[in-house]
Amino acid sequence: MEKIVMKTPLVEMDGDEMTRVVWQMIKEELLLPFIELKCEYYDLSLKNREATRDRVTFDAAEANKKYGVGVKCATITPNRQRVEEYNLSEMWKSPNGTIRAILNGTVFRSPITTDFIKPFVRTWKKPITIARHAYGDVYKAAEYRALSKGKATLSFEGENSESFSETIFDFKDGGGVIQGQYNTDSSIKAFAHSCFTYALETKQDLWFATKDTISKQYDQTFKLIFEEIYNESYREKFEKAGITYFYTLIDDAAARVVRSEGGFIWALKNYDGDVMSDLVSTAFGSLAMMTSVLVSPDGCFEYEAAHGTVTRHYYRYLKGEAPTMNPMALIYAWSGALRKRGELDGIRELSDFADKLEGACMKTLSAGIMTKDLVPLVTEGFSATAVNTEEFLKTIRSNLEKTL
Ligand code: NAP
Ligand code: MG
Repeated sequence: MEKIVMKTPLVEMDGDEMTRVVWQMIKEELLLPFIELKCEYYDLSLKNREATRDRVTFDAAEANKKYGVGVKCATITPNRQRVEEYNLSEMWKSPNGTIRAILNGTVFRSPITTDFIKPFVRTWKKPITIARHAYGDVYKAAEYRALSKGKATLSFEGENSESFSETIFDFKDGGGVIQGQYNTDSSIKAFAHSCFTYALETKQDLWFATKDTISKQYDQTFKLIFEEIYNESYREKFEKAGITYFYTLIDDAAARVVRSEGGFIWALKNYDGDVMSDLVSTAFGSLAMMTSVLVSPDGCFEYEAAHGTVTRHYYRYLKGEAPTMNPMALIYAWSGALRKRGELDGIRELSDFADKLEGACMKTLSAGIMTKDLVPLVTEGFSATAVNTEEFLKTIRSNLEKTL
């Protein structure tokens, strides 16, 4: 068989620990034999971020912006313990945070679903994709713990003598707590564009929810910006695609989501998204089956697995144990990126290959061959055999070869 030839390079961002090892295995077993892989490679391992003073992360993000499509391995976000472990000169920032800031993008997380791993919520039949607005609000708030009586005010000094001042609370009976949050029109707009773009891209309904009845300026602004952008730029496209944009209150949305069949995108403000993404991903069963894509408002895509570098498995691997990590989400990061690259460059074979690769993964799982993390999750009566990562990849490969 002739290998598939690519046009535009895919931005490849390598990572750390167990996922770095499995990344290489996936390339060797499932990609390089079939595709003349054209990648612009960036090594985002912590070691190389240290060596380049994190320059490599910025360069990778710029390349992703230039070429439009990237695929990223999981990376360590250093904490104090990692600074010691890797002898770092600085506690480098989260690469995902850096890339997200440069692309000004929104992260969409969706589970890979099967018939034999049932979500905890019985009505869910299709994936629910969570889009979290990862900017501002309580994550960048100014806070104060007041210890005495006193008055808290909210004030603003704008250009052109715009000004505002209002009492938040007059503390008459001892102190209390005060918090000031902000968000920006430009960030909310970018969030809205990413959400509408991705809904069209995946032909799924988009839900958005805030508490605008209570927060008549703050949350209301989110609601209005979404509405305005929808009406101006997306309503017609949505109607043509047969999908809908649905706005409701956050508590109503939470109740509806539980009763739904799934199969839509749920856009959430920063804190709501933080909470709901963990709730929804856990309810779907497994972090190892959760995919993630960063979408910029101007249509750049970066695909990755939602999980981290699976450190505990890595330490076992260093002691000589064969890898048992579930590679599904990493494989889907590659298939997602290759499909997108194929679409943008008009290379049908490449997009078809992505479909076939995912098909081969599903065929393998359906035959009961899976990594051990999934075995306890299958429905009663389904017979499953645990294999290690290498055996799992080899079975996928043989299923893939049958379809090429
Ligand atoms: P993690 O790497 O996602 O792993 C947490 C646990 O979940 C693992 O120990 C494992 O449980 C299970 N797990 C996750 N993915 C799995 C897979 N594919 N196959 C089998 N089991 C899987 O999270 P973490 O341990 O909190 O973080 C480790 C490192 O990853 C940290 O340095 C963090 O900074 C980084 N991180 C990176 C990203 C990213 O780059 N996007 C995201 C999150 C975390 P068992 O050990 O019980 O088998
Ligand atoms: Mg969280």
